[in-house]
Amino acid sequence: MGAPRERLRVVRIRLAIADESRSMSDAFLRQLIGPCGTRSVRRWVFVAPDQLHLQLGALRATDPATTGVVLLESREWLSRRPYHRMRVAAILLNQRNFAVELVKAGFEVDYRIGDEPMVDMLGAAHKAHGTLHATEWAEREMRAEFEPLRKAGALQVVPHDGWITLASDFEVCRRGTQWSMDAFYRAVRKRTGILMEPDGTPAGGQFSFDVDNRKPWKGEPSAPAPPRFDMDPMRVEVQHCIERTFAKHPGELDMQSIAGTHAECEAMWIWAMTHCLEHFGPYEDAMSVRSSGLFHSRMSPLMNLGRMPAARMVQDVLAMHLPIASKEGFIRQVIGWREFVRWVHLATDGFRDAWPVAAHPGDGGFAGWSGARWSTAGSSPEGVDGGAQPQALGDGTPLPPAFWGAASGMHCLDRVVADVWREGWSHHITRLMVLGNLATLLDVQPRALADWFWVAYMDAWDWVVEPNVLAMATYGTGGVMTTKPYVAGSAYIDRMSDYCSGCAFKPDRDCPITPMYWAFLGRHAEKLQANPRMKLVMAAWRKRSSEQKARDQATFVHVRDVLVKGQRLVPQTSLFAC
Ligand SMILES: Cc1cc2nc3c(=O)[nH]c(=O)nc-3n(C[C@H](O)[C@H](O)[C@H](O)COP(=O)(O)OP(=O)(O)OC[C@H]3O[C@@H](n4cnc5c(N)ncnc54)[C@H](O)[C@@H]3O)c2cc1C
Ligand code: SF4
Repeated sequence: MGAPRERLRVVRIRLAIADESRSMSDAFLRQLIGPCGTRSVRRWVFVAPDQLHLQLGALRATDPATTGVVLLESREWLSRRPYHRMRVAAILLNQRNFAVELVKAGFEVDYRIGDEPMVDMLGAAHKAHGTLHATEWAEREMRAEFEPLRKAGALQVVPHDGWITLASDFEVCRRGTQWSMDAFYRAVRKRTGILMEPDGTPAGGQFSFDVDNRKPWKGEPSAPAPPRFDMDPMRVEVQHCIERTFAKHPGELDMQSIAGTHAECEAMWIWAMTHCLEHFGPYEDAMSVRSSGLFHSRMSPLMNLGRMPAARMVQDVLAMHLPIASKEGFIRQVIGWREFVRWVHLATDGFRDAWPVAAHPGDGGFAGWSGARWSTAGSSPEGVDGGAQPQALGDGTPLPPAFWGAASGMHCLDRVVADVWREGWSHHITRLMVLGNLATLLDVQPRALADWFWVAYMDAWDWVVEPNVLAMATYGTGGVMTTKPYVAGSAYIDRMSDYCSGCAFKPDRDCPITPMYWAFLGRHAEKLQANPRMKLVMAAWRKRSSEQKARDQATFVHVRDVLVKGQRLVPQTSLFAC
């Protein structure tokens, strides 16, 4: 007896690219075609590549029987910058799996793959389906690209309801032209009751346990290995697609480390809850050659793709039995920092309110490193630019090739850069206190650094990468969202990591980072000494002799010149003495 005959779902798949259709025949295409009953799509929803959730915005509570979903794979957009292969792979793997999940849930899916910009592909989808419903885009670049379609009425846009906080939370933390993350976080805690006692006091007696969370990691407790996922046919197909279509993109590709299906995203989060969160707090600031992630959750790529809602994560963490320093520390990252930077992004229009804007998307230093111009440079759609170019501390140094893997001789920098090009990710303190610190001490142009972070990290999107780099890590926007520059000498790196033991330099003898730190304070003394939070360190800098100050500056000049040429530093005790 044969199997019952099934009606086949009519799935519209636009394949503008012939070779793609060949490679897509199995894992993806076939899964998009499945059984369905009689249906008539009355409403089409466009879901952007970073909105991959059934309960988000325009897709929330929709009836699959009458709803169609448009998804786009635009090669122009995916290659607008020389993004790390891991970033492109995470987007493709998750979006394709999401399409399959939509089909299984009963939706009709119009999945379009093409060379054109997303705005053109969306225009064509509008012609085919009429008005498209959409969710407000987190990324400014998408908002700018889709604006002509919105203006023309082709898109009906509802608010993005994946955020936890309100504009009013942000308003209370405004101090003139500056915003305080601490005030924002307290306001959110008080309004939502998250980690608050019934009498209105914070759980554990204080709003932040940050000062308790600064332990270096000496190997115990052992750091968990992140999950690995099976090389299923969809993964194999995306890997082939990256190797063939996105071959020029930099970075290693490790498909098995990327969660792609809904079930895998859940597994990733369960891993983080089970193995990371207990020790998250105390070792939050630690760095080690033995574990690139330590107890960090690695959830940012999935959160920023919409796969894992922040609100769900907060609920889960609140229900867990965790030491308060870890619980509060993690919650603060999600309802505090993550939401805060997004409000800063909106309030400053990506810092365009105060700074000139680059005409075209930057390549993050790709051309300088590879010797070849990024192929799509300058061909972006109207409205897309290169972002704000703040430089509160003055003109900048170009990004040194060390950020692209040329050995600098500084083990901390080389190690973290290697981690990033291997994984497309590194944790917060390596971003802030190694990469950001070194770049700031070198006076690297904040925009060049932001573009590098944007291309090198798989969790990078303009709303989050720009505030973190332009404002937080480099102090490029002045004190817009931080009270002082995040800079440190080698003592900090030595205390919080095990990098120094494998370095040609010795942190207390000839490491160039400490004199560079003093030189930074000296070069920017005029701007920094008015800052009350810099009072102590500026007083210490003033006490340095003029010979020491001259040697600090000579060290800076030497290190900058060597690194900008892509050369390796070697110990020179006479110059680098701390
Ligand atoms: C220079 C620099 C660049 C950064 N660029 C990005 C970026 O492109 N994308 C990105 O998502 N984060 C960025 N961050 C913030 C932070 O470093 C990452 O969110 C975090 O390292 C991601 O790893 P995780 O998921 O293990 O985070 P965990 O340490 O486990 O923290 C949990 C979550 O808190 C959120 N979070 C924590 N700190 C921040 C922050 N400062 N801003 C926004 N969210 C935060 C993230 O969603 C993160 O997943 C940057 C930070 C710096 C200093
Ligand atoms: S000695 Fe200096 S350059 Fe070397 S790892 Fe330590 S801080 Fe970095």
